Amino acid sequence: MISVAIDGPAGAGKSSIAKAVAKELNYIYIDTGALYRAIGLYAVEQAVTTTNREAVAALLSEIDVTLQHIGGHQHVFLNGRDVSERIRKPVVTVAASHVSAHPEVRTFLLSLQRKLAEENNVIMDGRDIGTVILPNADVKIYLTASAKERARRRYKELFDRGEDVHFDTVLKEIEERDYNDSHREIAPLKQADDAVLVDTTEDDLETAIQKVKAVILSKIG
Ligand code: C5P
Repeated sequence: MISVAIDGPAGAGKSSIAKAVAKELNYIYIDTGALYRAIGLYAVEQAVTTTNREAVAALLSEIDVTLQHIGGHQHVFLNGRDVSERIRKPVVTVAASHVSAHPEVRTFLLSLQRKLAEENNVIMDGRDIGTVILPNADVKIYLTASAKERARRRYKELFDRGEDVHFDTVLKEIEERDYNDSHREIAPLKQADDAVLVDTTEDDLETAIQKVKAVILSKIG
């Protein structure tokens, strides 16, 4: 099986790019952020403080998270309930960033991610795929863009979805998440030594897709 790891900060375009390239190459796209979001959602629903490591860890035995691909789209199930839309709410975004810093949560999701890569040709996007989850991935890409450009893209996405947001709030949230994700003790966001850096600040989506596809084909072609 072939595995492609795409890591990088929030809003770099990982999911749109990985989804499109996976479709072109006939690989399965796996959005690992959705797994952390499902756990974040459960903690919010149980009114547990998401920064509280012990309290979040205690919830894990009650949680069953699975991914299913339906009509080419990834759906996330939390204890049998399809939460694919609910996990995109801003409150869950913050909760996901908090719970993902707890080592118990990362261990909980590790084997699920590895199993998916063992069974399928995958393009997996996340923060620690090339560094921790799939250190032997066939291709590793570190996708990034300036914080301002990433905030601009995220703002548009939320605005188009009808969320009532301000640009400055989105930028602040992106900067906070960058900080949390790259400063946590366990599996921090960082470029793997053998990852190819792709900066999409100046690129439109199609250009970025072709750049990423070219990197993949140059490694596995
Ligand atoms: O990619 P997405 O924005 O959906 O991820 C939500 C949160 O989950 C991130 O802010 C990050 O803290 C966490 N995450 C992670 N490791 C991954 C994927 C996501 O820690 N592989």
